[in-house]
Amino acid sequence: MNDKNKIIKQTFQKVFDDLEVVLGWKQGFDSLHMTPAFIRKASDLDQLVFNPQCVQNLSGYLFSTLKAADPEKQGKIGICVKGCDSRSLTALIQEGLVERDRVYIVGIPCKGVVDVKKLRNLKPSLTEISGITIEADEVVIEADGKTERFPIADVLAHKCLQCRYPNPLIYDALIGEPVTARVAQDAARPAVEQLDALSLEARRNFWLTEMDRCIRCYACRNACPMCVCQDSCIAETRSPKWLSQRSDISEKFLFHMIRTVHLAGRCTECGECMRVCPVDIPVTLLMEKMNCIVKELFDYEAGIDPESKPPLQTYDSSKTGI
Ligand code: SF4
Ligand code: SF4
Ligand code: SF4
Repeated sequence: MNDKNKIIKQTFQKVFDDLEVVLGWKQGFDSLHMTPAFIRKASDLDQLVFNPQCVQNLSGYLFSTLKAADPEKQGKIGICVKGCDSRSLTALIQEGLVERDRVYIVGIPCKGVVDVKKLRNLKPSLTEISGITIEADEVVIEADGKTERFPIADVLAHKCLQCRYPNPLIYDALIGEPVTARVAQDAARPAVEQLDALSLEARRNFWLTEMDRCIRCYACRNACPMCVCQDSCIAETRSPKWLSQRSDISEKFLFHMIRTVHLAGRCTECGECMRVCPVDIPVTLLMEKMNCIVKELFDYEAGIDPESKPPLQTYDSSKTGI
């Protein structure tokens, strides 16, 4: 067990009696994959790990875990968060979906997580990974008895290459020293700018082509920490019936447009929607564009300040200029 994992374990051990469950990461089905861990016994805290393979945003489990918790006990949920995950957690608190005093937050400054698909394409023969570390502009992979270095762009997740908040913005305990953000908070967004430079028709065609691949598996919605409508989601309701089972582009487009608008001023750019999409649709890019619009209109970013209210919760329709 490395030092960071030991400190995470010891931190939760100290407060374990007050916790109903700890949400962290543990070794998955092979050495490449880490998986979410739901720890209910102190003896299982040994399973907790943190490394660049801990890709999942555990805040996505918080709303449903709290809903399923024993209302009599009012116990706390322990949770590990990276910088981006902490924004989702903050946004849930801002919207009153999670009470701050029901969570014990272990924040972990983060240099990035791997994009498993990129890594598989880069090294299809990888079998036994013994360690992945991030050093400045390189990712160092120790696997199959060899050490290899790759440029970060070849291995890290898209969101990490433009990470503005690598340090948790909210926590009860911080594990390790804060790290330097890869880009400035007001840095340009090249992918959004590239799309903005296209004509309206070309942009529309881009999204129609991307969305035509959508199989409406709803993994993007299910993985999103801010998609909390559950049975009331437009994809599920039959009264009113927003969407049919037809698999045509108009149904796919409508789902994505409604979801995008529903996440306006709420998306924290955790990238989970894009990570889980089985057909590689750049779903987060649509949200990034919406976030740029919200920033421009309301000077607001979701999940930064637990005390502020999202603009679409305080929106005044009599205001001009919006
Ligand atoms: S976006 Fe930032 S905080 Fe999130 S995983 Fe990437 S580097 Fe870490
Ligand atoms: S995860 Fe991808 S394929 Fe599934 S509904 Fe979302 S965009 Fe469509
Ligand atoms: S829309 Fe995507 S990037 Fe935004 S909060 Fe949800 S999962 Fe994260």
